[in-house]
Amino acid sequence: MTLREAQHLVRQRLDGLADRQEQRFLLETLAGMRWATLLAHPETPLTTAQETRLDRWLDERVAGKPIQYVTGEWTFMGLPLCVREGVLIPRDDTETLARTALAIAKASSFRTALDLCCGSGCLGVALAKLGGLRVTCADLSDEAIALTRENLTRNGVQARVVQGDFLDALPDDDPFDLIVCNPPYIPTDGIDALDRNVRAFEPRLALDGGSDGLAFYRRLAADAPRFLCADGFLALEIGFDQGPAVARLFEGWPEGRVIPDLNGNDRVFVARNPTHPSPPLSHHRPEDTCSTNSKD
Ligand code: GLN
Repeated sequence: MTLREAQHLVRQRLDGLADRQEQRFLLETLAGMRWATLLAHPETPLTTAQETRLDRWLDERVAGKPIQYVTGEWTFMGLPLCVREGVLIPRDDTETLARTALAIAKASSFRTALDLCCGSGCLGVALAKLGGLRVTCADLSDEAIALTRENLTRNGVQARVVQGDFLDALPDDDPFDLIVCNPPYIPTDGIDALDRNVRAFEPRLALDGGSDGLAFYRRLAADAPRFLCADGFLALEIGFDQGPAVARLFEGWPEGRVIPDLNGNDRVFVARNPTHPSPPLSHHRPEDTCSTNSKD
C-alpha cells in the first residue's frame, strides 16, 4: 500500500467521524513525516508493520478511542509528548495555563515550580523546557508518574517526580516560587454529561472534582500558602463556569484574576501568596488612594 492509498483508506474509514486535521495527524504519525513531505511522496510504500498498525489504528478510532490514545502521541506547546490510557490527554485549553505560568515566571525571575496533578507531565515539561525552571512534578497515579518520567526524558529535561495524594507527599520546608495545577474539576454529577469518548476512555480520577467540582481548589486555598515562597504565585486551570466561585475561594489572595482561553472561556485563575507583604503605597496609582475631595 502506498501513502496515497493509505490516505484514501483513512478518508474512507474516518470521514464523518474524525476531521481532516485528525486524519492528517494519524498519517503523519504513522509515516513519521510532516504533511508536506507526505504529499510530495505519494508513491512511498508503507512497510508491513505500518500497514498492520494502520489497520489497528483505524479500528480503534472507529470504535471511538481518541486519536491521541490511538497513536500514543500528542504535542503540547509544540513539545512532543507520549500519551496513553489511564492519563488525561493534554488539552489545547491547558496551553493557556502554560503560557500564563511561563509569563509570570519570567516577569518575576522565578526559579522553581511545582506541577501538581501533573498527569502526562505536559505543564512540568513545558516549564522546564521553555521556562528553564527547576521543576517538581507530583501526582497520585502510577500511570501518570511513569508517563511524566517518560515525557521529561523525551524532551531532554530533568525534574523531581513525587508520587502522593495532592500536596501530602511534598515537603513544606522547601517552598516553590510557582505552583501550577490542572486539578480534576468536573462536578461528579457532570461527568455523565461529558463527551461519550471522554467518559469511556479518560480516567475518572483526573476529571472528578467532587460534588461541586471545587474540591481541589478548596484544598489549595487552605494548604498552598505553606508550599509557596513569600512572593510566590499560584496558577490554576479552572472550568469555563468556575471563575467567580474560584475567585471567591481565594478572596484575600493578592493579585487574583481570571484569564480566558483562546475561545474566550474563563480557563485560568492566578493569585499571589497571601503572605506576600502589601505593596508600598507609592505603587498605588493616585485614583486608587482615598481622595480628600470626594463628595462626602
Ligand atoms: N478540561 C477537561 C475536560 O473538559 C477537564 C480537565 C480537568 O478536570 N482538569 O474534559
